[in-house]
Amino acid sequence: MKKLEVKKSDNVQTNDVLSGFELWRSRHLLKISWKSPKCIVGTMTFLLVIGGAIVYFSGTVSAAYLVVNGQKIGMVASVDKGQQIVDDILTKRGQSLGKVAKTHDRLEYEAVRVKKVELIGLMPSDKELQNVLNAYIDGYTLEIAGTQVAILPTQGDVDTLLKTYQDSYTKPNDTNKVISAEFSESIASKPIEAQPEQVKTLDQAMKELTGGKITTTEYTAQENDSWWLIARRNNMKTTEVLAGNPEMTEDSKIQAGQKIKIVSVTPYLTVMSKGTITSTETIPYDIVTTTDTELASGNTVIKELGSDGSKFVTYSYEQKNGQTISTQVVEEKVSTQPVTQVVSKGPELTAVSMTGIASRGSNSSTGIAWPLRGPINSPYGSRWGSFHTGLDIGGSIGTTYSAAASGTVVAAGWGGGYGNMILIDNGHGVSTRYAHSSKLLVSVGQQVKQGQSIGLVGSTGNSTGPHLHFEVIINGSTVDPASYLR
Ligand SMILES: [Zn+2]
Repeated sequence: MKKLEVKKSDNVQTNDVLSGFELWRSRHLLKISWKSPKCIVGTMTFLLVIGGAIVYFSGTVSAAYLVVNGQKIGMVASVDKGQQIVDDILTKRGQSLGKVAKTHDRLEYEAVRVKKVELIGLMPSDKELQNVLNAYIDGYTLEIAGTQVAILPTQGDVDTLLKTYQDSYTKPNDTNKVISAEFSESIASKPIEAQPEQVKTLDQAMKELTGGKITTTEYTAQENDSWWLIARRNNMKTTEVLAGNPEMTEDSKIQAGQKIKIVSVTPYLTVMSKGTITSTETIPYDIVTTTDTELASGNTVIKELGSDGSKFVTYSYEQKNGQTISTQVVEEKVSTQPVTQVVSKGPELTAVSMTGIASRGSNSSTGIAWPLRGPINSPYGSRWGSFHTGLDIGGSIGTTYSAAASGTVVAAGWGGGYGNMILIDNGHGVSTRYAHSSKLLVSVGQQVKQGQSIGLVGSTGNSTGPHLHFEVIINGSTVDPASYLR
């Protein structure tokens, strides 16, 4: 604290001194002779007092101590000036938030006289005053599930933040009509007096909210674990698991019992939304194959070229944080009918059967057919230091794919990383799985025929683009579908 050297004014004012003198004269002059010694001494004393007062007042100025919570902080030229300095500091403290900060501190001013030259040195610096002054902002809390997540300058900011967050997931537009959107968590907001540093701008709060809550758990590696399997078990991507374990690479060997960090980001808020979406979809053409004995075995000739049709489809959907949980077709309007392709084929000499395990003892020996025409984007087997349990067949969103073999639908719905998924029990220990669909056309318990359309290609779940992830599972283990497809 700065040491203050100030002369006290004794609360004497010039006017008071003069009026005092008049009073004294009126009382004494008439009674006392000018020449009496008493009068001379009295006059001399009086002149000295006046002279002293003149010297004193001409060399000093009036000022005021600024007293914060009973403590003298420094000196200001006037009460107005002091108030101005305090106001400036409070304004600056709230500026970035578009508000003026306030204080509950007790501000008092104590009148004082000080030598002109000394006043400047006794004025508190902005920094000193800022350190002493307890500023606060009237803000609003955002509480999610009972936990305070942020403080914003206004209630309007809290509302805007929630609306922007919701829209970032529901993405309403011309083809996507959002009917309802609500948060799963309880949300509350109340006024609060907060330190300016605790209050966030709308942008800052939005960044934090969309960044999500980071949680770290530990996973104990199992026998024959791979990065891909660990990712799948934790509903993550391989790269996400590796990002939490920077000392590891895709090629790092994993020992059973090894501790792996699972760093996951979970959203603070869950947006559940319902709406309808309209899309233009392809109707794939059918292929009719006729046997032409004139042709050599194995030869095919296209008699009539097929072409895809198209349709407008309106779905109702339910989404959780932008991920589709369920869809249902509300309306379908065919705009172009598909044209069936007619193919002539030479006589078949041997029926290609599904090898060994699958078809042995089976009445049908039709084997496993391609569920979708398209390029193999990713084969079965080792991939990026992990294991790919199926075949990725490329296709555009909305293209129908079909059952690779007849059977019973045992699962049809959301399958975590698989996205919208269908699992068909094809009998004799064989199952086929179809993942990442944009839409499922079958439901659990339904009997399906080989070649029957069962779903539409999509990119739901852990998928980097539209494709069909197709798995063949024999007695509980995945096998390379390529070696069974006919
Ligand atoms: Zn795949």
